[in-house]
Amino acid sequence: MSASLPPADIRRHFGSDNYAGVCPEVWEALHAADADHVPGYGDDPHTARAQGLFRELFETDCEVHFVFNGTAANSLVIAAACEPFHAVICHAFSHVETDESNAPGFFAHGVRTLPIDSPFAKLLPADVDRVCRNRRDIHASAPRVVSLTQATELGTVYRPGEIRALAEVAHAGGMLLHMDGARFANAVASLDLSPADVTWRAGVDALSFGGTKNGMLGTEAVVLFNPELRRAFKRRCKQSGQLASKMRFQAAQWIGMLSGGAWLARARHANSMAAHLASRIPEIPGARVLYPREANAVFVDLPAALAERLWSRGWRFYNDVGPGGARLMCAWNTSRSDVDQFVSDATLLAAP
Ligand SMILES: *Cc1c(COP(=O)(O)O)cnc(C)c1O
Repeated sequence: MSASLPPADIRRHFGSDNYAGVCPEVWEALHAADADHVPGYGDDPHTARAQGLFRELFETDCEVHFVFNGTAANSLVIAAACEPFHAVICHAFSHVETDESNAPGFFAHGVRTLPIDSPFAKLLPADVDRVCRNRRDIHASAPRVVSLTQATELGTVYRPGEIRALAEVAHAGGMLLHMDGARFANAVASLDLSPADVTWRAGVDALSFGGTKNGMLGTEAVVLFNPELRRAFKRRCKQSGQLASKMRFQAAQWIGMLSGGAWLARARHANSMAAHLASRIPEIPGARVLYPREANAVFVDLPAALAERLWSRGWRFYNDVGPGGARLMCAWNTSRSDVDQFVSDATLLAAP
């Protein structure tokens, strides 16, 4: 038996939201699409319908492409925006910087990142402006994209005003604003605003809209608001091995999530489980919540001995995100009893 399997009485732990399975709305939509016999590569009615649902959701004429994962979504947007001498301004803890194995420079040869460290994994306009200006003109790389993550890698959320301020600095410097929305649904649920208000109306040019971590089988949507980025995007998907042959099964997943609002309901649930977990952390001796809990992650300062005991007992959580601490990630299927069981185990194990 694998050592990484939890004891039978631990049903769901808090390692990541991609540990969770696939929600029923997605399976149902996949079965419905399975009944059809339609062309491949996105020239089918399911893909057209899913793209239409995105245009309704965002209240604008955006272009939408489906890819298999978030690394590709981010990298393809960057590749569409950049020449080989360009650079991407991002946070030092961003997925683009720390978790994509140099994919931006692979998809867009020559392109590099310019990471900035600032509190709560949120970029600040003044820092972006400084990095953009302090370049040795032709001798340095030229910043072309500002990439922010919503919700951030530390589970915090940008307000529309913060996004707009970044967009203003980016656009004034001749740059485009990209949003890595691997947890976009959790951010929208947290803000309780329309998807349009937190994206293109706030100046976002392109969004990587995450599906997988919100209960989908394996799809992310690239939503292009700025027509500049649309040229030959489908070719880029094909070239990078991201153009699904049976595209309807990617599209169907989005139809299942968007048509009845499950994308938001599932994210709301994950957020509310995180809120419940954060509210109970003070009961655990020596434990303390590290950052504002705004989406579905709770970062906790846990005594090292307790973290080890929890790990031996079978609980899983990351210790290596950003400046550290235990990252407890809730998912669409986390239950109150999962949270309560974690807290009661931690409280017992914290006893000397
Ligand atoms: C998970 C994640 C992604 C996407 O990762 P893939 O494994 O490539 O799908 C992108 N950005 C952030 C912030 C993430 O947490």
